[in-house]
Amino acid sequence: IYTGKKLNIALCGLGNYAEALAYGLENSQYCRLAGIVTGHPAKAEAWQKQYAIPEKNIYNYQDFDNIKNNADIDLVYVVLPNGLHKEFVLRAAKAGKHVITEKPMATSVADCDAMIAACKRAGVQLAVGYRLHYEPYHLELKRLGQEKVFGEVRYIEAALGYKTYDEAKALAGVDFNDQQEWRLNKSLSGGGPLMDLGIYCIQSSRYVLGKEPVAVTAQFSKARSAKLFAQVEESITWQMEFPGGAVCNAASSYGYNIDRFFASADEGTFELSPGLSYGPFAGKTSNGILHFEDINQQATQLDAIGKLILENTPLPAHITGEEGRKDIRIIEAIYRAANTGQRIEL
Ligand code: NDP
Repeated sequence: IYTGKKLNIALCGLGNYAEALAYGLENSQYCRLAGIVTGHPAKAEAWQKQYAIPEKNIYNYQDFDNIKNNADIDLVYVVLPNGLHKEFVLRAAKAGKHVITEKPMATSVADCDAMIAACKRAGVQLAVGYRLHYEPYHLELKRLGQEKVFGEVRYIEAALGYKTYDEAKALAGVDFNDQQEWRLNKSLSGGGPLMDLGIYCIQSSRYVLGKEPVAVTAQFSKARSAKLFAQVEESITWQMEFPGGAVCNAASSYGYNIDRFFASADEGTFELSPGLSYGPFAGKTSNGILHFEDINQQATQLDAIGKLILENTPLPAHITGEEGRKDIRIIEAIYRAANTGQRIEL
């Protein structure tokens, strides 16, 4: 059990995922919830009470820059809508704080570049909240693929989707500026389920193969509600070609439920279903059932990152801004492929 100084984290944006992170922080050895940044005073009050957060560690989006004078905050964890990640990563870096930003890192490669440069300039570490990099089933997928336990992987299927929006909502009329509906607002989300969920399919196929895709093709499905999905796609399927010929066929959706990963290699197969969500996961290989402990993904991720930052050790490549940028570059190519019907080379 670690008893040294903990990394003091401020959560920025107190929505659904910030709650999961707060629970993770309660179960973390190396990190603690020290501060909050929120646009809603009532939330500030409720969180202050629940987590015993001192008044001086509470910020809103206007006075956030004053955090530079607060030695009791080491790192800002940005859990805002995707389109706001860049602004708050830049502001946190300028305040001299380390940053973790949620996935997707940003809504364009240009924004990722600006974020990486700002953190470098400020001498702070930048991580992307890829929770599955520390999850035991995914560490096993990575081992099975990269160590070629069943030989060369030739084909992958990966899909993540949730039936998130219903027709009734569409008929009631959706307000794209509603805080609840930012995922449908292109400037706040950067895109639909590909940005939000498809990123896990891209990530997992990349780390199972240990390679970068060389070309993509993609198709939008027709949205059931043109009104609800006026700005972003409801569902998308896409294919990624990897060096050596391996292919990943992937899908993500706000219109149907799916959560699985499957790989076919020369001498066997391995798969998870559920496999990309918060779990608990279930999996098997052609040799039998896979079984690992169901862990708190957020606490595990925070501990791995927090320990390194406390030790002043540079974060490993697979969790940095450069890694986040790679996924956004692929996402941009997938959208280009779906919009043009062309095969896009990377
Ligand atoms: P929510 O809508 O639940 O929360 C977003 C929060 O951001 C709001 O509660 C609000 O907090 C703040 N906010 C500030 N400005 C706006 C605005 N204009 N519109 C809406 N919200 C605003 O979203 P999630 O928590 O689900 O997602 C947040 C981020 O986390 C996204 O980038 C998402 O991709 C990522 N995420 C990652 C997951 C993972 O497994 N790694 C899982 C889920 C989400 P306040 O009221 O305090 O100001």
